[in-house]
Amino acid sequence: MALLLRNGRVVDPATGMDEVCDIIVRDGVIAEIGHDLKTEKGETVDLSEKVVLPGLVDVHVHLREPGREDEETVYSGTRAAAHGGFTALCAMPNTEPVPDEGSSIRFLVERAREHGAVRVYPVGAISIRQEGRALAEIGDMVGEGAVAVTDDGHSVPDAGMVRLAMDYTRAFDVPLVAHCEDDSLVGKGVVNEGVVSTRLGLAGWPAAAEEIGVARELRLAGLTGCRLHLQHLSTAGSIELVRAAKAKGVPVTCEVTPHHLFLTEDDITEAYETSLKMNPPLRTAEDAAALLAGLQDGTVDCIATDHAPHAPHEKALEFELAPVGTTGLETALPLVITNLVAKKKASWADIANWMSHGPRAALGLPDVRLEVGAVADFTVVDPEAMVDVSTEWFCSKSRNSAFLGAKLLGKASEVLVGGYFALRNGKVVV
Ligand SMILES: [Zn+2]
Repeated sequence: MALLLRNGRVVDPATGMDEVCDIIVRDGVIAEIGHDLKTEKGETVDLSEKVVLPGLVDVHVHLREPGREDEETVYSGTRAAAHGGFTALCAMPNTEPVPDEGSSIRFLVERAREHGAVRVYPVGAISIRQEGRALAEIGDMVGEGAVAVTDDGHSVPDAGMVRLAMDYTRAFDVPLVAHCEDDSLVGKGVVNEGVVSTRLGLAGWPAAAEEIGVARELRLAGLTGCRLHLQHLSTAGSIELVRAAKAKGVPVTCEVTPHHLFLTEDDITEAYETSLKMNPPLRTAEDAAALLAGLQDGTVDCIATDHAPHAPHEKALEFELAPVGTTGLETALPLVITNLVAKKKASWADIANWMSHGPRAALGLPDVRLEVGAVADFTVVDPEAMVDVSTEWFCSKSRNSAFLGAKLLGKASEVLVGGYFALRNGKVVV
């Protein structure tokens, strides 16, 4: 049986393609791309006015399973991913227990095979229980399918341990993924240190605390030759450091999140919105502009969401006590379309680079291309669809979105994973 997708605008900067044409999918791969294609047997779907992109991937997702299945699971998180237009995601290791040896990676791989609506690539921990004291079983985890290691949620406090971890990740040919934060400077900080922290009377989390972590990791990557991927960069100074390191040939990639691109510290008011409490915190408008400039000049490789589901009773705590983070899988693409594509700050080819090819290269995931013979993982976007970000709209088990109430333009209408629909007419169908 074949699937004929007609009249979509097929955009893939990796092949140089940007034209309205037809795609035939057969046996999970792209069998033909061209004009006026026909199939004897099978189904035809009209994609007029829609944009077909290589399958989007989110390399920074907290699935919460095992340990906090009340907040998210492999089942619900991968359906949220499909709803948001992603064909794949990378699962962070700050679960309970922490995956720090092979069998817990195998658990996630098997779970994803049984329950996953999209592809799941596990990321293991750098240190045992993410405690920063002893190195996790990196080789064992890579052998079971871990694509990288990270202690996301924390920085590894000891530079010597990071160096040792980098020697291992280089030997096993996976990137070390770093959350950069100097704890001694952050202390009890909960918002960006500056005018807003003073006005609100909240403890400040200074930009320098991230930048010192970034600088340390860049130096160590230069020393070891390890592939380094920096998570959720939030300051202009971090972008500057990465730009300089890339110019010197350091093997580094980095990501920024939609909330750091499209929100600032000024969005936090005397209402003390815990939905806007993040780590790293929302920064200034100048920082947000520097993140976008970094994407546009290639310093920043990708957009990743840091999808962080939380139970409502926890986010309802006072600002200092509430957990950090926002859900992101379902709002990322609509936010990017609304704020960048619709305002002509980015093209569809940019979106394909920042949300598919860039993150895949950064984490060493298989690339997907819109060309004959390639696996049929792609995202179909309806640029004119309206999105009302309401609590009812989410497939995630959690509702702690920083963008609740937003009216957005454009979203995924279809998602194909290995030739099968995970999303169709905007509805999750697996
Ligand atoms: Zn983090």
